[in-house]
Amino acid sequence: MADPYQPSLNDFAFEADEIEVINLALASEKPWDYVPECDAGVAALKNAKSKILNLHLQRHGWTCCYCRTSLQGAGPFMTDREHILPKGKPVYKMLSYALWNLAAACKRCNMQFKRSGDSFVINSEDHDALMKSDNYLLIHPNFDLWDDHLTRLSVQVNAKTIVKIVCRDTDKAVYTHDFFHLEELEIDSFDTAQGLESEIEESAAVIELRKLAKVFGQ
Ligand SMILES: [Zn+2]
Repeated sequence: MADPYQPSLNDFAFEADEIEVINLALASEKPWDYVPECDAGVAALKNAKSKILNLHLQRHGWTCCYCRTSLQGAGPFMTDREHILPKGKPVYKMLSYALWNLAAACKRCNMQFKRSGDSFVINSEDHDALMKSDNYLLIHPNFDLWDDHLTRLSVQVNAKTIVKIVCRDTDKAVYTHDFFHLEELEIDSFDTAQGLESEIEESAAVIELRKLAKVFGQ
């Protein structure tokens, strides 16, 4: 399957010391939380994790891979390294460092994930199927192009920004929108926009956003 994002996962390579420490981690009980015994190992694992995060942020233009909130300069308090198939479930333990099973998401979306277990996977038993887009009900951050399913529009008026997420006519669009409660992003911003009405004639932000939404078929 062609990689829908750049740089491609296939072009990425860890350094030899990073591979070594990842293999030690994978042999341990909790691979992602593994603490190497020597300082060099600690540094190598830290480097590997940092490279993973940067790779995924780059692939998604420094936005959350589920809701497209900007993570540019957001720092560790807003950005999570995300295991798509949860690392805590023994069956997925060996996928803790699999690049296709990792992504960078905002804290809000990652919270929704933590509550869901792996309910978004159709067949969790077949390892080969886990690497295929059609085995996931949601838009997979590495196998699916987000833009094929959803469009995020936003209009900034002075210091305030309002958002609309437009669903295309796909099952993954609807599932992802519901799963991550993306309407919350809109409601918050539309409430803000309502508050703008007294400040701005006919709420220019809302009008502009409706125009934009029409262009995208909603
Ligand atoms: Zn998000």
